[in-house]
Amino acid sequence: MRRYTVCTVFHIRPSHEIRNIDMNVVNWNQWSSRPREISRWLSFERSSCEEYPPDSELVLSRYTVRTGYWLATHDPFDDEPPIDAPAGSVVLKNRIWKLPILPKIKHFLWRAVTRSLATADRLISRGLQINRICQRCKISEENISHTLFQCSFSLMVWRLVNIPSITINSFSNDCEENLNSLLDFYDSQGSSRHQKLLPWWSLWHIWKSRNNFIFNQIRENPSKSALQAKTDIREWIETTGLNATPLHGRDTIIDTNWTRPPTHVIKCNYDAGFNSVSGHVTGGWIIRDSNGFSKCWGAATLHQARSPLEAEGHALLFALQQTWLRGFTAVMFEGDCEVLINIINGVSNDIAIDGLHRDILFWKAKFRDVSFVHTNRLCNKVAHSLAKKGCLNRTFYSDCVNPPIWLTELMYFDRIQSI
Ligand SMILES: [Zn+2]
Repeated sequence: MRRYTVCTVFHIRPSHEIRNIDMNVVNWNQWSSRPREISRWLSFERSSCEEYPPDSELVLSRYTVRTGYWLATHDPFDDEPPIDAPAGSVVLKNRIWKLPILPKIKHFLWRAVTRSLATADRLISRGLQINRICQRCKISEENISHTLFQCSFSLMVWRLVNIPSITINSFSNDCEENLNSLLDFYDSQGSSRHQKLLPWWSLWHIWKSRNNFIFNQIRENPSKSALQAKTDIREWIETTGLNATPLHGRDTIIDTNWTRPPTHVIKCNYDAGFNSVSGHVTGGWIIRDSNGFSKCWGAATLHQARSPLEAEGHALLFALQQTWLRGFTAVMFEGDCEVLINIINGVSNDIAIDGLHRDILFWKAKFRDVSFVHTNRLCNKVAHSLAKKGCLNRTFYSDCVNPPIWLTELMYFDRIQSI
């Protein structure tokens, strides 16, 4: 790399005196350059002073932002007081710059840390005569932390994106503290790449939506921001190939989101509720298509059982019957009891549920295309809730139009999170 020296920048010819000058006592004014011409000096061609010692304090390598900054902060002719460093923790900024996210989002986060996002409190601090109350919720002062983490709109987005271990109670009034919490989550183990990136795109879309509201008077639905954040991350991961990059060495990805079935198949999630004292069993089921829409759902009080495995078997049998009765022939049955799934798939056997096993195989044969897959409890939460709450006041419940409130939210989350 060609090196440019201070001689180059100041367009002076080095002399023996200059080479041996004591930099601490140098009289810069002896060099006949006028103040405020640094930018023009920087554009000068190299002079014949390449032999100037490169290890001098004044040696500037090829012009970069760094050398420009150095020169600006060491300008000998600058008689103005030094500019204060931007607000915010340098450590936090460094962590943000290292995130594998879009540069514009890094810059947005840096502006949040340096308190340079144009929220009402910041604009008022600069002399603008505006209302300091948040125009969205009309409750609190609009500052950066409120806008991104505590406004009613932001809280709804955070709920919808549903990031593991991050709840709306996780956030404080301190923006830096909140960002540090999100960075700690990024560095933690047990989450997928998608989940780790979700907070940053969520913040970005919360801010974009806020601006759309302030400047265009468009009140967006929080679900739109949540959906857009998820879609953007999916595209970002596909575009950058981040999936090919391993996460931290010991990371294991725990899927917490329900997934949609392929286009030609209907998915039926089922689960059992089992009282180990009374042997009382309830079953819940829900049928959804490849777009995440619910076709129908229900719950019923079932036979007594002697074990959780038997209870799960009754719930699956009930789900098979309810699905077949509604005319679906290509179905993926998804439950959270792996032992039962292995028995149905012929991987293992258990004599204790032999009769129930035969009943399930009988109903299984009625379907044209059927499969039985295992998922974890978090991905099966709608069926789990149906089993627990669906038959509190009756022995059978089924619907395909209006879900109860406690079910609406779960169904909505599943649909949003499965995009
Ligand atoms: Zn607000």
